[in-house]
Parts: sequence; structure tokens; C-alpha cells
Amino acid sequence: MKVLVLNSGSSSIKYQFFDMNTKEVLAKGLVERIGMSSAILTHTPTGKEQIKIVGEILDHSIAIEYVIAVLLSKNHGVITDKSEIDAVGHRVVHGGETFSGSVLITDQVMKALVDNIELAPLHNPPNIKGIEACKKHLPNTPQCGVFDTSFHVKMPPHAFLYGIPYELYKKYKIRRYGFHGTSHRFVSERAAILMNKPITETKIITAHLGNGCSMAAIDGGHSIDTTMGFTPLEGLIMGTRSGDMDPSVILHIMAKEELSIQEANTLLNKHSGLIGISGDSSDMREIENGVNEGNKRAKYAFDIFVYRIKKYIGAYTAALGGLDALVFTGGIGENSEMVRREVCKNLECAGIEIDVELNDSRPKGEVLLSKKGSKVNVFKIPTNEELVIALDTEQIVKEQLDSSKE
Ligand code: AMP
Repeated sequence: MKVLVLNSGSSSIKYQFFDMNTKEVLAKGLVERIGMSSAILTHTPTGKEQIKIVGEILDHSIAIEYVIAVLLSKNHGVITDKSEIDAVGHRVVHGGETFSGSVLITDQVMKALVDNIELAPLHNPPNIKGIEACKKHLPNTPQCGVFDTSFHVKMPPHAFLYGIPYELYKKYKIRRYGFHGTSHRFVSERAAILMNKPITETKIITAHLGNGCSMAAIDGGHSIDTTMGFTPLEGLIMGTRSGDMDPSVILHIMAKEELSIQEANTLLNKHSGLIGISGDSSDMREIENGVNEGNKRAKYAFDIFVYRIKKYIGAYTAALGGLDALVFTGGIGENSEMVRREVCKNLECAGIEIDVELNDSRPKGEVLLSKKGSKVNVFKIPTNEELVIALDTEQIVKEQLDSSKE
């Protein structure tokens, strides 16, 4: 089976095309600047040269047409007929409380996605556009939705309810949802395999540290708590997002600076976090350079980033009632030995002892970073959200085919 995985944003579509027999990526690419006359499609067939096509791509439907055309192209393509795309898997940001797992997209599912737009007004509409475009150009191909939220949906009420009037939860569905679920699920499953333990018998904390950052407490394969909340703003500080703070702070700033709701939203989501504190950059590499050069504000940004992760390790160890593994993933988690080293420093009291020499040698791939004898296994595991989407899609489509044979 061959599966096309799509991540549709407001002005871009990322894609990966998988051969599920080998689990290999046959081609991947990105359409950028959708809506403009100079949109760019960058296509990389595995083992062949990358190509760039510049042209007018005014909407998601045209973008999908381009993607299919380039997959079919004589010189750069990897298939000879559209029918070789056996299924399409879509990343969908918000599944609300409706979806606790990945699903085949039906008319009923489409309706539920539209109902959830209110919860993710920036992300769900382009996800829906991507699905509609595929329905148009691949009308006979099954499509599946894999949600960022679904891994966390079964958190217990004490973890997902906020301390506000319960009626507001019922009326507006205000609760913790959590995000990055596909990544937390993938790396926790990998950690269980690397520990040679059934996932049902593991207690794992995962730290997805990228431009967006979140942690999850995973008990027996189920997320029981996570740092992102109603939106991806809560929890750790991130490249440009504030993370946790006293909610009164924003009311105070809005009053003092006479900010509108929109301006306050932009302040918290785009001008806070690493960039807000350092005043320089949202990129952890540049923050680290600043720290090494003695820049005081870069050091504050780095220290706050690390400290908050440490605090959540403590909190989630308590929530789990023990800990078998701590997993680092995402651009920062996978690549920053400085962040991993500082997060794990002085956590021997929690059973966490990393091999600093090994950590600092920047080892590639999946690595056990903890010292022999460390009570908790510390891993660095590259995430692969696209593969999870492809695997879920393959499974759903196979189940569908099997049930239609019965
Ligand atoms: P992601 O969103 O997962 O692609 O991660 C992006 C983040 O990874 C950016 O903030 C980068 O600063 C960070 N990153 C990538 N490579 C490194 C590195 N070698 N050291 C520190 N941070 C890195």
C-alpha cells in the first residue's frame, strides 16, 4: 500500500509519500505561498535531485493538483497512475472531544471537523481545505484524519478541567486538550520498545521541544496529563509563546497598554517566550550562542526554558507515581545537548542521571543517554509524526477493506 501524508496549513502544504511495505518515503515536498502568483513547490524524490517549481497556486485545490502532477511526472515522479495513491492521511490539529483516535473521513466526520473550527480557528480550516481538495482530485481514494489532540482526549477530568465555573466547560468546551499527540505517542511507544517492556507497564515523560514545546505524562501508553491546554499557548515557554503565567497578567497588560484582544493574542503567541525574553531570537541555537557569549537576556531565556521543563518533570513524576523513562524529542530535544544536560542536572534525587560525555558527543538517532544504573532511562528519540499518520491510515484502510469482505 502507498500512502500520501498531508499537513495542510493556511498558505502551505507539506507532503510525504510512503511505501508502507518498506515504510520508506518515496518522495516528500512542500508547497509554499499558496494564494500567491509566485507560489513554490519543492519536491524531493528519494535518491533523486530536488526540484523547485514556481507558479500561480491560488488555493489548496490547485496545490493538491500540483502535488499529484509532480508525483506522476516522468522525470521526477514516483508513480505512473493516480490509482497508485492507495490512501491519504491528513494531519488535523483539533479533534475536540469528538475523536479519541484516528478515523476514516466520512461526511459525518467532516461535519464534526467543521463543528470543531471554533476550537482551532487558525488550524482546522486549512486542514479541512486539504481534505476537500483531495476529495475532488482523488474521489475514490480513502482519506483518514489523524488528530494532534486525540492522544490526550482521555485524560482524567482532574487533569483536563480548569478551575473556572464548570458551566463554561459545558457551554464552550473549555478544557485542556493538549497537542503534539502524534509525537508524544510515537516516541513513548519507541521508548517502551527500547526498554523491552510492554507499553502497558511503563511510566514515561515525553518532552517535545521544537518551535512549539509540550510535555506529556504517559501511564501505560495513555496520556494522563500534558502541558499544552485549551490552546497550544499553555505550559513550557516556547520560541515565541509565553507558556504558563498568572492569567491576571494579561488583563493588567491589556489595561495598561490599551491592547485589543487580537493584540493581546499576538503578544502572547508571537512576541513572548524565547524571543520576548531575549529580545533577539526565537531560535534555540542563537539563544545558546548568546549564553556562551555572556548575553544576560539570552541566559534568562535559556534558564527559564530549562527550569520549566525541570518543574514539569517533578510534577509529572508525582502524577505518574514513578518514572521509567524521560524522552527528549523535537528540534531542540533531539539536537541541543546543552538543553538536555541542563534539564537533567541535579535530578539524581528523581533517579535521573545522564552520561554527560555521551550526551555532549551529539550522538545521532535513537540513543539511551542515561548512565548505567540510572533509575530512570533517559532517551533522545527523533520524532516521526508523518510515519504515525501513514501507519494509522494504512491500518484504518485495511480494517475497512477487511470489513467490506465480511
Ligand atoms: P522543530 O519545530 O521541531 O523543527 O524545532 C525547531 C527548533 O529546533 C528551533 O528552535 C531550533 O532552534 C532548534 N534546533 C535545531 N537544531 C538545533 C541545535 N543543533 N541546537 C539547538 N537547537 C536546535
